[in-house]
Amino acid sequence: MRFSQAFIPTTKEAPSDAQLASHIFLARAGFTSQVAAGLYNYLPLGKRVLKNIENVINEEMTASGAQEVDLSFVTPADLWAESGRIEKFGKELLRFRDRKENLFVLGPTHEEMMVNLVRNRVTSYKQLPLNLYQIKTKFRDEARPRFGLMRGREFVMKDGYSFHANEEDLDREFDAMEAAYKRILERLGLEFRVVEADSGAIGGSGSKELMVIADSGEDTIAICDSCEYGANVEAAKRSDRQDIPAAPEADFNKFQTPGVTSIEALAAFFKVDPYYTMKCVAKRLIYEDGDQVVLFFLRGDDELQEVKAVNAAEALDIADVSEEELTALGLVPGFMGPLDMDKVPCVFDTGLKDAKQLICGANEKDYHYVGVDMSVLKDALFKDLYSAREGDGCPNCNGKLHYRKGIEVGHIFKLGTTYSKPLKAEFLNEKGQSEPFVMGTYGMGVSRLIAATVEQHHDEKGCIWTRETAPYLVNVMVSNIKDEAQLDFGEELYVKLKTAGVEVILDDRKERFGFKMKDAELIGFPYTVIVGKELENGNVQIVERATLEKSEVTAASVFDAIMDRLK
Ligand code: ATP
Ligand code: MG
Repeated sequence: MRFSQAFIPTTKEAPSDAQLASHIFLARAGFTSQVAAGLYNYLPLGKRVLKNIENVINEEMTASGAQEVDLSFVTPADLWAESGRIEKFGKELLRFRDRKENLFVLGPTHEEMMVNLVRNRVTSYKQLPLNLYQIKTKFRDEARPRFGLMRGREFVMKDGYSFHANEEDLDREFDAMEAAYKRILERLGLEFRVVEADSGAIGGSGSKELMVIADSGEDTIAICDSCEYGANVEAAKRSDRQDIPAAPEADFNKFQTPGVTSIEALAAFFKVDPYYTMKCVAKRLIYEDGDQVVLFFLRGDDELQEVKAVNAAEALDIADVSEEELTALGLVPGFMGPLDMDKVPCVFDTGLKDAKQLICGANEKDYHYVGVDMSVLKDALFKDLYSAREGDGCPNCNGKLHYRKGIEVGHIFKLGTTYSKPLKAEFLNEKGQSEPFVMGTYGMGVSRLIAATVEQHHDEKGCIWTRETAPYLVNVMVSNIKDEAQLDFGEELYVKLKTAGVEVILDDRKERFGFKMKDAELIGFPYTVIVGKELENGNVQIVERATLEKSEVTAASVFDAIMDRLK
């Protein structure tokens, strides 16, 4: 490609709402342009990066035996009613009617469509397993589209779905997909972690996220400093605490505690470690058929993890409750406790199991109980509610957990029969009996990967593309195109590299050197060959974008020097 003919509208202006480096640089360097909130055009450079990523994904998917399909983007609403997701997905589903008044949905993900494709076509265990995937535009009417390609409303996803005769075979495929996803991210040159994810109401350990490590990531992950363990904080576990503080000694009693409404004040009042206080967090849980206030109890030094709370209460979502609402329910904010609590449901963190010598609210203004033993609470519901903290013990080894920020670029999930059952997608097993397919789903954010790459690889000047993502690997820059020798040499090198199969662009624009260099840095080609004044002495320069290191090589050896670096 010749820069002089390319459509690469670089600009000094960053989008007014842009905060992230990827959002700013992809716009400024002419990779993408915004159409409306969460909607983007890909210009030639952006499209090339997108295709590069798609190619890597396609190669790894093909190598692992998955087959590519392409399903309709417009999906019948009936299918979403069949699975029950038309309500669950809520406003993120963009619906519309056609001229015959049929209701449709723009596909935000394709479980229903894929099950519909396979049901009644795959009818015997002999046709299993099957792994079908596509790379496709998705639409989700996100409440807050932001950060450019990171969270669009229209975006490109690789979504794969596997069908199996039993759980064991799903486990095998799940591991194979995890391995394939790791290879993809390695090839793309990204630092990442595979972490355990929240599996929602389905539960189990069959959900993992692939997180690209970046300070700007929206997810917090807890990773072990000595083993492979990593988990989204939404799902992170920890080992049992070793350094348990000495227990206070007290018989069961009620104490007056005027104005003591915080854990801090409570621990100070009784001179005990917060570990021996009971924290009560009241939340509004949202269900399909209405709301319900629930009290969550944890040890005083723990924090409630809201996703865990939603799962524990088998709810759809969670929201805050005001003190007025609590008072209206007959509760006493600041002094709520589990004893004789008959007004709202209670859930207890597993850390409170068998706990003794606790201090908790007495459900009476300005009173707390001391010396509470959890065994007095018959039929208490215990669930993991805590948020794992930095420094907590790793659940797998003796290591310590650390927090990092991550960008979720992939999510693999053991679905089991969650969709095949309601959609009645069945096959005949070896005994000739009908059974629903056991399924897995494997998503990867293709357009998000473009942004994630820039988040991880950029500096203050612009993007730094990796080997497999770069729109062009080499930029041959002719410093002054009026200099015939420079232009001729540049042309020659450009043709030679192109013939050798290198993705190369020739900057033959009639612009100042400084201007062209700024563009090269902003766009982020891995290597720029500067053909300038030094050519008179038989020398040119190679600039490596990642380090901005310049090396002088002879004009005669520059082709080999480049090929060497690309090896
Ligand atoms: P998030 O938690 O970021 O909203 P999600 O859990 O809704 O993501 P999935 O349904 O698991 O996402 O979709 C699979 C992948 O698609 C995600 O891992 C992510 O990389 C990508 N993705 C999801 N939503 C968007 C979006 N709005 N814009 C760009 N990529 C997205
Ligand atoms: Mg996800």
